[in-house]
Amino acid sequence: MNKEKIVVIDFGGQYNQLVARRVRECHVYCEIYSYKTDLAQIRAMNPKGIILTGGPDSCYAKGAASCKKELFEMGIPVLGLCYGAQLMMHVLGGCVCKAPVREYGKIEVTVDKTSSLFSNVSEKTICWMSHNDYIEEKAPGFRVTAHTMDCPIAAAEWKEKGLFAIQFHPEVLHTQEGFQMLHNFVYQVCGCLGEWKMDAFTETSIKAIREKVGSGKVLCALSGGVDSSVAAVMLSKAVGGQLTCVFVDHGLLRKNEGDEVEAVFGPSGPYDLNFVRVNAQERFYSRLKGVEEPEEKRKIIGEEFIRVFEEEAKKIGAVDFLVQGTIYPDVVESGLGGESAVIKSHHNVGGLPDYVDFKEIIEPLRDLFKDEVRQVGLELGIPEKLVFRQPFPGPGLGIRIVGEVTGEKVAMVQEADAIYREEIAKAGLDKTIGQYFAALTNMRSVGVMGDERTYDYAVALRAVNTVDFMTAEVAEIPFAVLARVMNRVINEVKGINRVFYDLTSKPPGTIEFE
Ligand code: GLN
Repeated sequence: MNKEKIVVIDFGGQYNQLVARRVRECHVYCEIYSYKTDLAQIRAMNPKGIILTGGPDSCYAKGAASCKKELFEMGIPVLGLCYGAQLMMHVLGGCVCKAPVREYGKIEVTVDKTSSLFSNVSEKTICWMSHNDYIEEKAPGFRVTAHTMDCPIAAAEWKEKGLFAIQFHPEVLHTQEGFQMLHNFVYQVCGCLGEWKMDAFTETSIKAIREKVGSGKVLCALSGGVDSSVAAVMLSKAVGGQLTCVFVDHGLLRKNEGDEVEAVFGPSGPYDLNFVRVNAQERFYSRLKGVEEPEEKRKIIGEEFIRVFEEEAKKIGAVDFLVQGTIYPDVVESGLGGESAVIKSHHNVGGLPDYVDFKEIIEPLRDLFKDEVRQVGLELGIPEKLVFRQPFPGPGLGIRIVGEVTGEKVAMVQEADAIYREEIAKAGLDKTIGQYFAALTNMRSVGVMGDERTYDYAVALRAVNTVDFMTAEVAEIPFAVLARVMNRVINEVKGINRVFYDLTSKPPGTIEFE
């Protein structure tokens, strides 16, 4: 089914995943490959078009990320973005050098010539720029189609060869008409039909899984998060009772969450599968006793999770397949797809394969982005509450409690967080704030309650909105709502006598506390 495909070649740019997402939003399947990928391999995929991403290097420098001239001679349209544009020019005989004026941020671009890339785009259009180098001289055969005040070649193209170079980033939302430009490339230049649709994906994948699994046994580690839930439901639809889901309650979930997961996936829920819940709360608390260092806490939680899961898996015996809720950004971030070096360790699934006796891994969501996974979830009829669940870290409340984790502290932060979420929902803000939760600080201070001295913990409320996942800013919650939360938390949660609101943006802060 993935016949029509656009390939994104990654030169280490910050927005490479966004490029692929935008193309998929145009209903065209898209994958990211490192610039080191062999040209023959790319040709063999028979892509309708190729997009070269931005990147940190200077293309004329020694050892810079590069590409072969032949890439531009395959008869496949190529769109170069920023570094990709510079590289195209450099490789094809133009001149790239340090720009006299670097541009960073929203810049007005003037479109000088009609171009299929800019059809339905205004003559003057705000674009996101981020570059130190610029194209001083275009390569032979190209014509310049746009400029900015400081950048005489903001776009150039060689229409007949299907080669397009733009100095700005259309994939970033700050580029007001960026989506239109990518849409133009995909449809007008590459002639795509736009057949990548989620319902087709869901149906085809379930069929394929059924064929692959046959009468085999399947095991799934269910966390209750969006990805593992959607993966589990797909498997259940495909093979029903051949699937066993193990749900480890590590005692670091939000209030009532364990029961909520059980209500959906357990025996009284709508799905055909075997559900095993392991209540391992006390095991985790005793391992975490006296441990204060965040990284050590993470490690302990991850290890203990594997141990518990391993014990359960042993009870089930050998299985044929292990299901993982890996999604596309995980694939790229683990360095398998693209060029980005960041490695994300998924404690709840990453280490499992080594400990479970199985033949093969099934990753039904491996090609999807988060929003696409959610769409599949909705199509499968998974409750919206679960599908739109906020991101929740694998180590759970373990890293929302600063310092030592105890059962009492977990109960405190669970209660405070539940009140906070309830009030946010009551105020009608739950759909507008990106992410919000309560964390327990390690600070105790003096207060007075009922004329009596208290010496209790302080809770911190966090609420952020994030744009493009790169940065986050504090959300502006009406003061009256914050005051109500403060009141309720202090009145209802024993052990807490102070409430803070965290104003820190990311960077320099992180969203989570540890
Ligand atoms: N490193 C190149 C420059 O500074 C390209 C930057 C980018 O791709 N955003 O001009």
